[in-house]
Amino acid sequence: MTGAGADVAATVAVVGGGVSGALFAVKLARARPDFRVIVIESGRRLGRGVAYGACAPGHLLNVPVSRMEVGLEPGFADWLRRDERALAAMGPALAESGGDLPSAFAPRVLFGDYLQDRVAAALSHDPGPGLKAVRGEAVGIHPGSTLAVRLSDGRQVDADIVVLATGNMAPRAPGGPDAWLYDSEFFVPDPWASDALADIDPDDPVLLLGTGLTTVDIVLKLEAAGHRGAMLALSRRGLIPTAHAAGGAWPAFIEETLPASPLTLLRLFRRQVAQAKAAGIPWQRVFDAARPAVPAIWRSWTLKQKRQFIRRLRPRWDVHRHRMAPRIAARFEALIASGRLTVAAGHVSHYRPIGEAGRAGVEVAYKVRGGGDARFTARRVINCTGPRRDLAECGVPLIADLRNQGLATPDALGLGLETEDSALIDDRRRPSNRLFALGALTCPSWWEIVAVPEIAVQVDRLVAKLAREGEAKPEDHPLAPEDFLDLGAGI
Ligand SMILES: Cc1cc2nc3c(=O)[nH]c(=O)nc-3n(C[C@H](O)[C@H](O)[C@H](O)COP(=O)(O)OP(=O)(O)OC[C@H]3O[C@@H](n4cnc5c(N)ncnc54)[C@H](O)[C@@H]3O)c2cc1C
Repeated sequence: MTGAGADVAATVAVVGGGVSGALFAVKLARARPDFRVIVIESGRRLGRGVAYGACAPGHLLNVPVSRMEVGLEPGFADWLRRDERALAAMGPALAESGGDLPSAFAPRVLFGDYLQDRVAAALSHDPGPGLKAVRGEAVGIHPGSTLAVRLSDGRQVDADIVVLATGNMAPRAPGGPDAWLYDSEFFVPDPWASDALADIDPDDPVLLLGTGLTTVDIVLKLEAAGHRGAMLALSRRGLIPTAHAAGGAWPAFIEETLPASPLTLLRLFRRQVAQAKAAGIPWQRVFDAARPAVPAIWRSWTLKQKRQFIRRLRPRWDVHRHRMAPRIAARFEALIASGRLTVAAGHVSHYRPIGEAGRAGVEVAYKVRGGGDARFTARRVINCTGPRRDLAECGVPLIADLRNQGLATPDALGLGLETEDSALIDDRRRPSNRLFALGALTCPSWWEIVAVPEIAVQVDRLVAKLAREGEAKPEDHPLAPEDFLDLGAGI
């Protein structure tokens, strides 16, 4: 290992300082005080990323506080208890949970405050080992005796190991008719960009493409900013995320025998949900009980079966698996009931500029699922179709650089990069011992790697693997449902 300094055993560069990268860096620096761990983050704040940075006070975590414990000291709940300002912001959430902090749905911004605080406490500004921060955008990696990470401003960070934690990418422009819209002032390509909602007039009618959690977030953000205009949320099926429900417990029902196909999984869930309902247990507990087994099920399926799942079951899976906090669901439902927000199933057939020189807005014509045509006039069309996952052609400089050098391989299903237990797989199908990935990039091998509990499991596995580098290595055990046992209960 080249440590660049007598007391540095190895240098690990982490590209991306959102939850995945920041948590990994803090934990690795704690496990190996003789390592230099450098987090390269293009944004100003570490530990937040999009989810816990670009959020309004009204945005709540979509799981209770207890599910956001990530193995840091103090834990999230204890940190909230000790921070008067944070505890004050928990008022409505605590009122809902009867004063029970672990089961409360906290404002999302507080989790960002917590992680940012924990990273700041761990940072070292001395030369030598410890956790360091570099502000910059990584645009390429040159593999030599060390890995030279190139930044867009011309600087270079040399490391023995690089961990990519670049997270959620901005959505891609939806395909379909009238691509002129995507180059016009009416289109918002990335709902998380800092200026995304900047010049929307309170009375502007808004079309949201997509009906998932991103749409829920943006609708509530608009509402909190005083928006009064009509909103139409449109997706092929018009499915909106379900809400959490507290109470009950359901035993693990997927253990040794994994469902052999998506159809078997569907039947198994239907049976279990019917039994749970008959026993007066919310169906949500069935999903929670299955959650630890999801990565193992995914990995056991063939490419064809995975494709089948994505085409046929994914939309329904997503709205049941990724749920809204009850208060968020109530606000969203109230907007629908008031007539301000319409959720529709269908697809756009054309966009047409309206008004003098096409400056007044966009006429949207869409086919309603099940038959019929409808129209909506919008001043903004916001792309809420979710993060881009397919990396085969995306122009993000770092990904393109790794892909062009054959150091990273986009997967066949367009979900991310090929990895084996977080190690990048190159174009000759060899797992790297120097390049690793965490979070969304690794979706092809984990499937569920979006939420914090899964990310925390993945982070711990990679910390353990890299921390024992250079020492006698205990046998790596393959990823198993037991690794996730902690995830199910009580969500
Ligand atoms: C709106 C929203 C709400 C969510 N709510 C919850 C919730 O309540 N509970 C839950 O469990 N999960 C939730 N999630 C899911 C999950 O927590 C996030 O997706 C998670 O934060 C992902 O973290 P990440 O670090 O992998 O990626 P990101 O948060 O996307 O962070 C990646 C970071 O990398 C940086 N970066 C990217 N490329 C480069 C580069 N080339 N050079 C330098 N820096 C770079 C970015 O600036 C960014 O800070 C939510 C997600 C979203 C989007």
